[in-house]
Amino acid sequence: MLHSTIQQNDYSSLIALNPILNYNSTKKVKNVILLIGDGMGFSYTTGLRYFNHESQKGLMKPTIFDRYFVGSQSTYSLDTQCNITDSAAAGTALSTGYKTYNGALGLNIDKQTVPTVLEYAKFRGKSTGLVGTSQINHATLAAFAAHVESRDQYDQIADDYLDERIEGKQKIDVMLGGGTSYFHRKDRNLIEEFVLHQFGYVTNLQELTTNKNERLLGLFAPIELPKMIDRDPNVPSLSQMTKAALERLKQNPNGFFLLVEGSQIDWAGHDNDIVGAMSEVKDFEATFRTAVHFALNRDDTIVIATADHSTGGMSIDRNGNYKWNPSVIKSITATPFVIATRLHETKDITTLMDYIHFTLNDDDLKTIQSTLEMGVEDTRQTLIDIINHYSSTGWTTKGHTGEDVPIYAYGLNRHLFSGRIENSDIAKILFEIID
Ligand code: MG
Ligand code: ZN
Repeated sequence: MLHSTIQQNDYSSLIALNPILNYNSTKKVKNVILLIGDGMGFSYTTGLRYFNHESQKGLMKPTIFDRYFVGSQSTYSLDTQCNITDSAAAGTALSTGYKTYNGALGLNIDKQTVPTVLEYAKFRGKSTGLVGTSQINHATLAAFAAHVESRDQYDQIADDYLDERIEGKQKIDVMLGGGTSYFHRKDRNLIEEFVLHQFGYVTNLQELTTNKNERLLGLFAPIELPKMIDRDPNVPSLSQMTKAALERLKQNPNGFFLLVEGSQIDWAGHDNDIVGAMSEVKDFEATFRTAVHFALNRDDTIVIATADHSTGGMSIDRNGNYKWNPSVIKSITATPFVIATRLHETKDITTLMDYIHFTLNDDDLKTIQSTLEMGVEDTRQTLIDIINHYSSTGWTTKGHTGEDVPIYAYGLNRHLFSGRIENSDIAKILFEIID
């Protein structure tokens, strides 16, 4: 049974026929670390620069992103209904070199399966990893290792991670993120199956740190991980997961391909939640630093950090105030969701003072108090509006926006990603330079 699955799902021949492959004399890289900040448009990384600027006066220090800025990419998909991408189509462009329709994962516009750079790296004998803060079968990560018509096919995607093979082997060696509820289901226990295939399995930071398996599945939440600002110390950060993945992947003498996603920058953007957005951009900043640190003093590794699109139409300042106030954001110690949940537990408005350390006026307090008779969502939305008002953060949509997004790169062949390129060019270049 298992054997026939392997035969059916082995993608090696598909990769060998990939028309995008074009061997030429470009210097090949041994290791690729691709980081995608989902929804992380220019306003988010510029916001980070303001956010990191402690004194709020004088010249701003460049962020680590600024130091490695090389260019920008356009993100539009080939959807017949929309010209703004979703994360599935953008992920597929970044992973396969094919722009496609919104919702597609690992398929071209004609719904044909096309190989991903992760699969190609595996085909070339490398180790591979997927790390993120959403469930690991969510669109962006799945675009690199699954082939389904719709991103909503979560169970099928999780099955693909185990069942689809390259040269007879599972294609992903290290998977770290959320998603227990998709891997341990009534109809199938993928966790047990991965363990039968010699994978280690860990569920918290302690286990992640002590585990020695070279192939590893780590699921740290039923669906997504908490945002960094809300995280329990026993849940690993994106940067800690990335370190753990690198420690394992670097053992392979043929090198590796690692995809890391800051999954929830986008989710905070959809919520128009600047506290959550800055929390997740900070986590992503630390992760980029970890990746660059790995590549320092090596001549065989490329680190690329980019976004799949921007989200929320976030603007640094609004209403002609000429003053964005990151100090307001920094004075808050949990996401509006966590604060709202806690307020509904205590029904006591002074609970706010445990989390919000800027001054709210009586009207604000009255408005928040009145939502305690309603749902948690009402309170959360009110807190979001108040925080956007005091920080002077603007938003134009709860969806995605179509502007180009930045590309940051460090290491061998970084110049190939410079200038203005298409999102699909990133995969095309990777296919060309992966050794
Ligand atoms: Mg995503
Ligand atoms: Zn989104």
